[in-house]
Amino acid sequence: MSAIEYETVIGLEIHVQLATVTKMFCGCPLSFGDPPNTHTCPVCLALPGSLPVTNAEAIHYGLMMGMALGSELAPRSIFHRKNYFYPDSPKAYQISQYDEPLCLGGRLGDVRIHRVHLEEDAAKLVHVGASGRLHASDASIVDFNRGGTPLAEIVTEPDLRDATAAADWLRMLRSTLRVLGVSDVNMEEGSLRCDANISIRPVGTTELGTKTELKNMNSFRYIERGIRAEAARQEAILRGGGTVEQETLHFDPRTEAITSLRSKEDAHDYRYFPEPDLTPVAISQAMLDRAQAALPELPLARAERFERDLGLSDEAARLLAFRTELGDYYEAALSSGAGAEPQPLANWLGNELLSRLGADADPADSKVTPAALAQLVALVGAKRVTQGGARQVLDKLISDGGDPARIVEAEGLGAHGGSEDHAPIVEAARAANPDVAEKLRGGDMKPIGVIVGYVMKQTKGRADGGEITRLVRAQLGL
Ligand code: ADP
Ligand code: MG
Ligand code: ZN
Repeated sequence: MSAIEYETVIGLEIHVQLATVTKMFCGCPLSFGDPPNTHTCPVCLALPGSLPVTNAEAIHYGLMMGMALGSELAPRSIFHRKNYFYPDSPKAYQISQYDEPLCLGGRLGDVRIHRVHLEEDAAKLVHVGASGRLHASDASIVDFNRGGTPLAEIVTEPDLRDATAAADWLRMLRSTLRVLGVSDVNMEEGSLRCDANISIRPVGTTELGTKTELKNMNSFRYIERGIRAEAARQEAILRGGGTVEQETLHFDPRTEAITSLRSKEDAHDYRYFPEPDLTPVAISQAMLDRAQAALPELPLARAERFERDLGLSDEAARLLAFRTELGDYYEAALSSGAGAEPQPLANWLGNELLSRLGADADPADSKVTPAALAQLVALVGAKRVTQGGARQVLDKLISDGGDPARIVEAEGLGAHGGSEDHAPIVEAARAANPDVAEKLRGGDMKPIGVIVGYVMKQTKGRADGGEITRLVRAQLGL
């Protein structure tokens, strides 16, 4: 009997702080890192008699997101009160959306979207104490600056099947939101936050297992590790004959420990009811037109265009399209008129330049202009400089900037015109290494590297390994 194999099933709930100028229901400016409680007013402090007003720009961003995700946009949606009692909410309820969200359904890549709705963020609780850790005797202080910040909550269907796919998909969502310009999507600052719902089931079955929810993970790596750890925990339970409890969990990235925040039994009853102080959101054709006009080319469409129109590999197209800054740099280089071929240009940007600047660097911040990179790649393509010589030019461009053709000339890195140039050096290399020459003569090409190394040294890297091998074979009549 073979052991049962399990697969992981994941659905994500993502909270995105919208980059509007003001809060969701009042005129307070949004802020991050400002002195506590400096951006508040009667509305976001819930003083009696104050009335909320819906932020039109937040609705606009919500519509853009819905359009980008292919959602159905509700012609009329309403806000509800979600009641709960906690010091991060002065009203003792959150204004959110319930059964009539702004956007229904949709898809991004392989993952179906369940819904997107708008709500307001809670205030920020800061736990302090003499111990530096939270104890019952210690204090919690509240910063209301964050309270009332517009949020969009994106809920996916349970379509993801492993931790890496979940993190990759989230990266795709983040770059989509970034290109839309609706959020800063900064996980460390909390403008993009993700809860992962996780269950496992025997491979080949279709019924969903009992899910648990990992709360508020604030980096892609933690999300990946948290999902993996939770799937392993559930598998151990099932293999031990137990059952998974539906609960909300916390993952500690330092210790990998998973602890329970609350179980199904103490789940909240939010007593949702329509917010009586707000009118329903009625979406007009003018609002739809404005959102449509504001839509930029989205990363998935850009990747498809790079593959279709430029013939880029799938991998290169995705790298450039999902990292907007790389795509912009690449397109600037391509259109600079230097005549670089698309795929080699993508390789030089993705492999050579990024590996030198750091994988997460933005090349636009370096001294290498897009036009300079394109010129360098064009010089390689025209065989006016070898790969090795071009790498040296790139190092120079990174440290000093400048013009690749001039650097090639000034440093004497130009590739020699024809194969005749190198023939005497290859002969000299054979003469200097008689034992190697002997093996080569016998057809054993293994030590060819010695000859290549010699010629490279003599030519300061301007020769080409393939060309040297050809010359050796020609000279030996092989
Ligand atoms: P809840 O009512 O507990 O919030 P929902 O049905 O609204 O649950 O789903 C919340 C999220 O959990 C969605 O992203 C959904 O895709 C995901 N989800 C639902 N059931 C499962 C399951 N069995 N395994 C994994 N994810 C699930
Ligand atoms: Mg939920
Ligand atoms: Zn306010």
